[in-house]
Amino acid sequence: MPDRLYRIIYMSRNMLTGTYDAIAAQVDGILVSSRRNNAPAGVGGVLMFNNGCFLQVLEGPFAAVSATFERIQRDEGHDEVIVLEAGYPEERRFADWSMAFVGADRADAHRYELLKLDRARLAVLAKDEMLAQLQGLVGEEEVRRAA
Ligand code: FAD
Repeated sequence: MPDRLYRIIYMSRNMLTGTYDAIAAQVDGILVSSRRNNAPAGVGGVLMFNNGCFLQVLEGPFAAVSATFERIQRDEGHDEVIVLEAGYPEERRFADWSMAFVGADRADAHRYELLKLDRARLAVLAKDEMLAQLQGLVGEEEVRRAA
């Protein structure tokens, strides 16, 4: 069933280097590519960057998510990619987003305490709970940007 809705949640270690601003610019570049590529492919999700790690949720048709994830895994901007969950959900959790983004803002760091992206903690955190927390953060981000 290649077009069935598919979701991958993974985490990886940041390999982007440079000053805070240089890294932020590189993350912006990732988001520009993601938003350009993901929407036409029907792929959506959220990217979180914090504490030296990435956490990303990719949702969409199986073939499109798989192709996107293969491309992402070859990216030298990160390493040690660990899939936390992969499966066929009933519905999207991030339907409105080609790639929402939370994190990387020093002033906001305290808001992401909940998800410290510590590998051991993330690996055992219930994925439904993780998705709910990410949805909450994306919602807060939306409100903040609209203000
Ligand atoms: P790019 O380097 O972005 O661009 C390649 C070509 O696109 C260029 O030849 C140029 O002609 C053309 N181009 C450039 N800018 C424009 C423009 N504005 N309009 C039209 N054409 C243009 N990638 C994703 O696609 N989705 C993701 O969700 C995603 N998540 C990522 C998460 C992490 C943690 C990391 C590290 C990377 C992620 N990436 C993601 C990036 C991914 O690894 C690849 O770098 C990216 O997909 C390459 O995209 P691209 O082939 O369009 O190359």
